[in-house]
Amino acid sequence: MGKELNIEQIRKDFPILSQRVFGKPLIYLDNAATTQKPLSVIRKIEEVYSTINSNVHRGVHHLSQLATESHEEARKTVQRYINAVSSNEIIFTSGTTDSINLVAYSFCRSQCKPGDEIIITTMEHHSNIVPWQVQRDISGVEIKVVPLRENGEIRLADIEALISSKTRLISVAHVSNVLGTINPIAEIIQLGHSHNIPVLIDAAQSIQHIPVDVQSLDCDFLVFSSHKIYGPTGVGVLYGKESWLERLPPYRAGGEMIAHVSFEKTTFNDLPYKFEAGTPDYVGSTALGEAIRYVGNLGLEKIRRYEDRLLQYATEQLLQIEGLQIFGTSPHKSSVISFLVGNIHPYDMGMLLDQLGIALRTGHHCAQPLMESLGIEGTLRASFAFYNTEEEIDILVEGIRKVAKMFL
Ligand code: PMP
Repeated sequence: MGKELNIEQIRKDFPILSQRVFGKPLIYLDNAATTQKPLSVIRKIEEVYSTINSNVHRGVHHLSQLATESHEEARKTVQRYINAVSSNEIIFTSGTTDSINLVAYSFCRSQCKPGDEIIITTMEHHSNIVPWQVQRDISGVEIKVVPLRENGEIRLADIEALISSKTRLISVAHVSNVLGTINPIAEIIQLGHSHNIPVLIDAAQSIQHIPVDVQSLDCDFLVFSSHKIYGPTGVGVLYGKESWLERLPPYRAGGEMIAHVSFEKTTFNDLPYKFEAGTPDYVGSTALGEAIRYVGNLGLEKIRRYEDRLLQYATEQLLQIEGLQIFGTSPHKSSVISFLVGNIHPYDMGMLLDQLGIALRTGHHCAQPLMESLGIEGTLRASFAFYNTEEEIDILVEGIRKVAKMFL
């Protein structure tokens, strides 16, 4: 493959992929739910616990300084990866969900009054719906929902139609975890800004596939989870423009996020610590830094080209199966395919494919309002990473055919 990725070599970095499941080679096609971890990330976790483990930011002692340096270096790695202006703009959270909850709480509390509006879209993950609903109950904000078009796209005109003098924020997924649609976020951000409305990008499904440059996008907030970009679970990122993060009040309260505490009055720490109450997951952040290095070494452009090829190949092959319907047919797609075969229940199909060693996702994918708009209860979902192969897709297609026959 010349200068392209050497998949055979890459697969050796992921020990889990050589497993057998029910006596069959594991075919892991559930990467939108979580990605597998390369050895360098697994080893980094062991290394931190074996060599520098110590609570960060508190101790003057040697280990504590090393652990602090490692955590802060990871922050800089994230900063460089998304091209943030300053590492003060990188807040470590426990994941995408936590990051959106932070913004929803702090933003609505300080920037919204009852009747103000937040715009989201029909294709959002529950994590970008429910935190706003909780704020609706607390601060009285209202939620406006951009409708979905036929092929699983959202249109700028439909967003514009919802913008009013009461709109305070637009919060939208970069890539849909169900449809795979890549939303035109640069244009959405521009549209928002032309009305003085900040924009939050849920990059949970894009950060591992598509180069994201927060400065050229000019987004106000961007969130993602470590575990979807080959890093450990339990860590996530909130990027926020410094001007916004300075303005927003803290979300969680406790140690680390304070400057001075007395029983009468407490003052808060500077960025980014104002938003990081308690002991941060400095092991997880360090391992996330390692995962980003791994992805960077492969090269996101090469990853994207390869995954696009997988997506195209899988789409063509799957569509040859009689009765198979794909949900999300935008020409702008990332490597996620949701589908149904005839009237076979996705859970039944998923269980039987599992017996063949094929790991797919089934169900509503934490996007029940989207399912409702599609008029279905759930789908099967195959989602690809750079370690997947066309041979695995062939086995998937053959597996689906085999299972479908059992329902004839
Ligand atoms: N948003 C999107 C688009 C997602 O795909 C996911 C994970 N499926 C989330 C948010 C939530 O991520 P996490 O569970 O890691 O917080």
